[in-house]
Amino acid sequence: MRLIILGPPGAGKGTQASRIAEHFGIPAISTGDIFRANIKNETELGQQVKAILAAGGYVSDEITNAIVEDRLGQDDCARGFLLDGYPRTLAQVEALDGMLAASGGSLDRVLELTVDDDVVVGRLLKRAEIEGRVDDTEEVIRERMAIYHRETKPLSDTYRERGLLVEVDGDGEVDAVTERITSALA
Ligand code: ADP
Repeated sequence: MRLIILGPPGAGKGTQASRIAEHFGIPAISTGDIFRANIKNETELGQQVKAILAAGGYVSDEITNAIVEDRLGQDDCARGFLLDGYPRTLAQVEALDGMLAASGGSLDRVLELTVDDDVVVGRLLKRAEIEGRVDDTEEVIRERMAIYHRETKPLSDTYRERGLLVEVDGDGEVDAVTERITSALA
């Protein structure tokens, strides 16, 4: 099972990604988590991307693609994976196509969690109070939403044209959304 989960910041991708991954027995790979872990551990990569994440911008395709390629080459991805937060640009879609072609695999589904902008901004502001993520201030949230609509939202059309897109309403209780996703993927 090779899956992608798409959706705006605050759509609940991370939460749903771990549940779906567990359901299918595959690893959930979040590029955001990988970057945050590197920042926390003060690695060279962490130093490179710290300011970008804090400002809500996208890390370069070059860096991001290299990280994903490395991660997908690890043993636990042999039976499949769920990508959360990648691809985010059309260039990343192409890079992923290349990685999959090289390994002889292909995507099964691309799940898009749809949630209104107002709902996600509200959720992100609440998360800011709880988790204190540096990219959860109102100004940075607005920037992330704008970049999402410009750079990432077009990816749903690309995957729809390929017949891979499955749209699921991400509004509502976490369990209800998980239920919708698992039945949509069944
Ligand atoms: P969210 O889905 O809430 O925006 P993520 O945890 O997925 O948060 O990502 C946090 C940040 O990490 C992004 O705002 C961006 O700076 C960086 N990032 C994550 N994935 C990518 C990617 N595929 N391409 C470029 N930057 C990325």
